[in-house]
Amino acid sequence: MHTLRLCITIVWRLITMKQKKMWLVILLSFFVIFLTYYIKSQPKKTTASKTTQLLGTIITAEVYGVHSEESLTLAFNRVKEIENKMSRYIPRSEVTLINEYAGEKPVPISEDTYFVLATALEYAEKTHGAFNPVLGNIVELWGIGTPGAQIPSQEALDQFLPYLDYDKLVLSKNPYTAYLSCDKIKIDLGAIAKGYAGDEMARILSEEGIESGILNLGGNVVVIGKKPDNSLWTIGVQNPLETERGEIAGIIKPLDTSVVTSGSYERFFEEDGIRYHHILDPATGYPAQKDVISSTIISPSSTIADALSTAVYILGKDQGLMLIESLPNVEAILITDKHEVYTSSGVKDDFFTLKSKEFTNEKR
Ligand code: AMP
Ligand code: MG
Repeated sequence: MHTLRLCITIVWRLITMKQKKMWLVILLSFFVIFLTYYIKSQPKKTTASKTTQLLGTIITAEVYGVHSEESLTLAFNRVKEIENKMSRYIPRSEVTLINEYAGEKPVPISEDTYFVLATALEYAEKTHGAFNPVLGNIVELWGIGTPGAQIPSQEALDQFLPYLDYDKLVLSKNPYTAYLSCDKIKIDLGAIAKGYAGDEMARILSEEGIESGILNLGGNVVVIGKKPDNSLWTIGVQNPLETERGEIAGIIKPLDTSVVTSGSYERFFEEDGIRYHHILDPATGYPAQKDVISSTIISPSSTIADALSTAVYILGKDQGLMLIESLPNVEAILITDKHEVYTSSGVKDDFFTLKSKEFTNEKR
């Protein structure tokens, strides 16, 4: 090392001033060429977006980062995988098989389905059964969102209502299995699977290096970081009095979290001037009608936010807010039938802004 430094010093002293300048220019040129090449060879950050129908809803995603197109493909493939396991409309899905073998035998399931079913049971317990993952038969009787939607007879409802006990869904690990120990119940994950799919999309995109994005799974929104221009993402809370999508009641500015809304405007039919919507109260078998007409839950876990948005809609404002205040990392924005907006204690002014004059802000 010492000898090398000595050699360089000797050579440097021997060459003339003119030669020194020339060498400096050559070295500098090499440095500039190398730097340009290095910058050009770095992967470029781009925006990519995609819209697809999966899990019975329209899913849109817009992401920004390196390999944005490829990352989106991976994320959407994952949703397809989740749909194939958890949809009860897919003939050989895991959920279909659990339902088919109800009262007969346990069915092998994947870790994904185990996780979602276990979370569903946890939140069924926490919401005192308002969120109930085994009311598939009641959902089928109503058929809301299908061409055959109808008001079921009380007799038809009574065939299943007394059996809506989620403890009859028995899970086990090593190997993962699920068993419905009563043949009068069926699993329906319509109120939680989209949340899980949102979490999985966000996880894959982040692992792939996506630093900014917004995912919308039919009203379940997940945001990754900030917008590419470094400002916060803005999400509109749908005006529940309007059935047209895009009319907003207020806006939310979230960061790295999920915002999930359940509302009676999402799927419904009307008969004799009465709206029959898709959020069913397991206590009555009828569409829930306490006092909440839109329930928005904010949580870093979209799975949990999804289960809770459905449950809080059913529980109503007082019980719903009490539940949300008792849980960590969860906030709520509720709109009531009296057009009042109630927020949980963690919802700050700069996070949620009421925009529509049709509603009043009731709690801060
Ligand atoms: P969401 O839009 O997340 O509130 O979920 C509504 C969907 O979940 C419905 O279309 C049904 O498939 C299912 N569902 C309805 N009522 C309940 C309930 N009380 N508990 C669990 N799932 C429900
Ligand atoms: Mg839900």
